[in-house]
Amino acid sequence: MSMSNITSNAPVVIIGAGIAGLTAAYCLKQKGISAIIIEAADRVGGRMTSDTIGGHVVDRGAQFLSTEYRIIIDMLRDLGLSQQLCETSQCSAIVRVGQPRRLRASRPLDALNLFGFYPMLKLAWNTLLLSRKQKDLSLSDYSQWMEFDTESTSTWSNREIDPPITEYLFEPMLQGFYFQTPEETSKAMAVALSAFGIRRAKTLSLRYGLGNLPETLAQGMNLKLDTPVHAIECLDGKVLVHTASETLTAHHVIVAVPAPVAKNLIVQRLEKRMDEEMQALLATPYSASINIACVTDKDFALPSNLKNIYGLLIPRKDRTAVSAVGIENNKNRGDDAAGHLFNIMLSHRAALEQMQAADNAIVAFAAQSVSDYFPTLPTRIKQSRVYRWPAAEPLSPVGRAATLRSYRQRSTQQVPSVLLAGDYMSMPFTEGAAESGYWAASLVAKTTNQRLQGMPASGHP
Ligand SMILES: Cc1cc2nc3c(=O)[nH]c(=O)nc-3n(C[C@H](O)[C@H](O)[C@H](O)COP(=O)(O)OP(=O)(O)OC[C@H]3O[C@@H](n4cnc5c(N)ncnc54)[C@H](O)[C@@H]3O)c2cc1C
Repeated sequence: MSMSNITSNAPVVIIGAGIAGLTAAYCLKQKGISAIIIEAADRVGGRMTSDTIGGHVVDRGAQFLSTEYRIIIDMLRDLGLSQQLCETSQCSAIVRVGQPRRLRASRPLDALNLFGFYPMLKLAWNTLLLSRKQKDLSLSDYSQWMEFDTESTSTWSNREIDPPITEYLFEPMLQGFYFQTPEETSKAMAVALSAFGIRRAKTLSLRYGLGNLPETLAQGMNLKLDTPVHAIECLDGKVLVHTASETLTAHHVIVAVPAPVAKNLIVQRLEKRMDEEMQALLATPYSASINIACVTDKDFALPSNLKNIYGLLIPRKDRTAVSAVGIENNKNRGDDAAGHLFNIMLSHRAALEQMQAADNAIVAFAAQSVSDYFPTLPTRIKQSRVYRWPAAEPLSPVGRAATLRSYRQRSTQQVPSVLLAGDYMSMPFTEGAAESGYWAASLVAKTTNQRLQGMPASGHP
């Protein structure tokens, strides 16, 4: 790439306008540092985007927020969006032997019906043991959970708690929320998920869709849409960001795209200078899913045993293809459009099998797969939309928290000119993505201020 192609200069370039990249830009803006955001798609938000179908708001990827999401809740408040936050219904259900078992957040004893007495007793004892250990750890920052990052969820839960707890609590939660198995997921994630329960977190949605947050964040920012970045390289202490039409130079680049994309952008030109942690993090694998949004006719009624529930999880012992069903009228309780809206999520394996199928075939397959619980659904769908996510969520294999911790320590000692952000760089959900953007922006702000004050600034790639 010749220098004559260079057309723009910016102190900071952010690649990717998902919640990670936009949080980074927001944080820099608050510190008076300007950044250019380069986004491949024609809209912002990435996996945190919403559409409207038949008058219903549909969350295409991310579905829920939590009262424990500190960074996101603060940004919603600062942006004047707090009034859009709504608590979902307090009822959910997990299937066991073909029957959905209702769980009310305020009644922990409901779980007796799902787990049985002795597993429940062991769960209660372990929860008590964990409640002290987890209380000072942040549910935004995955690197803080390193002490639990020692073995897989299944190994720990089968040994220390009870196999029914693995099968009817951790497995459906990990596959239903993250499309992952307890065998491939670190105990650190299971303990962090338990901490949401221990802290009595409430599940939240946004009245006009979760996509409203990235859209509002992006307003007034220096943003280029429809501009995929092809490569990044370091030259003479600056970073070059190559797109099809131009090359931008920056002191710092925050790469806020999923790991496989980041790896492709960086590897060709920076590989020799990458440390071990960076290489390991860029190799983070992702699960896949397909989210099928279905709007029913106006007369459709929920079966009486599923009235009021906002979500149904189907464990692998009962699962054919679907791991979770969101019932949007009970999730977003301001939704008064005609008919019911379902968000049906395929498991990782089913998603890989269906990824190339036609939309109408996927809708029919998904509706049929949940017909044991919603018998009339296959014939009552009026409108539908299919969202394919080949890289839905990063896995948390044993070691990711520890690797992340050393990457952060090393980057804090000497701030690199290329910083990684995104959900694989923290908790594997929207709040973690936001936290990773905030973390990267804080380091960039620190060195930028040092440079402006004439102090020597670091800048290794
Ligand atoms: C089906 C599903 C359900 C989920 N449910 C929840 C949930 O209930 N709660 C929750 O908190 N989280 C949930 N998540 C996870 C959450 O959506 C993600 O963790 C989060 O949105 C990731 O944000 P990000 O900014 O790291 O990445 P992304 O949102 O993927 O953003 C990356 C951006 O980079 C852009 N990009 C890619 N390549 C390039 C390139 N070469 N050049 C420029 N730009 C590029 C992309 O277009 C995208 O806009 C869910 C995810 C899925 C898929």
